[in-house]
Amino acid sequence: MVVVRKTYKYRLNPTPEQEQALEVVLHRCRTLYNVALEQRKAWWGRGQGIGASYHQQKAELPDLKAACPEYAQVHSQVVQDVLLRVERTYAAFFRRVKAGETPGYPRFQGKDRYHSFTYPQYGNGAVLDGGILSLSKIGRIPLRLHRPLEGTPKTATISKEADGWYVSFSCAEVPTHLLPLTGRETGIDVGLKVFLITAEGEIVANPRHYRKAERELKKAQKRVSRRKKGSNRRKKAVKILARKHQHVRRQRTDFHHQTAIALLRTSDTIYLEDLQVRNMVRNHHLAKSISDAGWAAFRTVLEAKAAWAGRRVIAVPPAFTSQDCSGCGERVKKSLSVRTHVCHSCGLVMDRDENAARNIQWAGQALRGVGAVVPAMNREAPSL
Ligand SMILES: [Zn+2]
Repeated sequence: MVVVRKTYKYRLNPTPEQEQALEVVLHRCRTLYNVALEQRKAWWGRGQGIGASYHQQKAELPDLKAACPEYAQVHSQVVQDVLLRVERTYAAFFRRVKAGETPGYPRFQGKDRYHSFTYPQYGNGAVLDGGILSLSKIGRIPLRLHRPLEGTPKTATISKEADGWYVSFSCAEVPTHLLPLTGRETGIDVGLKVFLITAEGEIVANPRHYRKAERELKKAQKRVSRRKKGSNRRKKAVKILARKHQHVRRQRTDFHHQTAIALLRTSDTIYLEDLQVRNMVRNHHLAKSISDAGWAAFRTVLEAKAAWAGRRVIAVPPAFTSQDCSGCGERVKKSLSVRTHVCHSCGLVMDRDENAARNIQWAGQALRGVGAVVPAMNREAPSL
């Protein structure tokens, strides 16, 4: 049986006292995160940056607990996980330094940016017992088990969102729900005006509610900046803004899930371009549509769902996919504003993105050495 890893998220229903206790743990974790980052910064300043490690900081934890007894009230593995987060942030920072980039120093986390803490070993400090989540040193919190958990829970993460508290279980060995094979493959490309387009020319439009939600976000943002810092009215406005953000995030995730399921139902293999989204976002032309569409987030959803459904998602290196003719291979140079591919060599006339989606499919199939890798001459005749 094929198994995958999967995360299950449930809403918690804490009492006011429990909520207070959760806040305290979150606050301590955030403080520790910033202190640990500060220490790393000092080490880094003294040229010890690379040698200083998670283990060094972990070894100092008993001293911390002696000096700040309040940390004894936080589960020890939760505390260790905070240091692991610092380690991961730092590792990413160094990777970029080594790669010759000049990344900003890892940032300190303000109250609005640090939202969660993790029990890294399920069963040790956090355990699910029917509809109750038992957290050591916090209590037994009821949760809304809206769908059953599958597989073996490995970690439990408690997070605070705009509308309350949640727990996410990362589960291993979740049995897959394989979809029947279709014998079909396709390529997909990010559209500039649409969300995506397939090699068959099927279009998934950007949901309309994005624009509307965006306007509302802007309004909420303005309301916050108009109000005086520290005032109660501003705090209220901040809360509304956070809710709007959460709403937009959820709508987007929902849309990504629906789109991924539809694609996976109809194709066994999906080819897409391995876009460096980070690089693309710097490009002003594309910035808006790319970040809007959340292409990278969609890819993550698609890949996870594919693993679960026994499908394949294959990324191909981008190379002239929008320029080359999918009919004959001729390179037809065109700027971003040219929306139609017109090949004077074979006569193919096609939407620019559909042509690209086809090229992505050919490239992926060539990479795998399967499928319709036929001489250009024998490819499907252009429809004119
Ligand atoms: Zn052509």
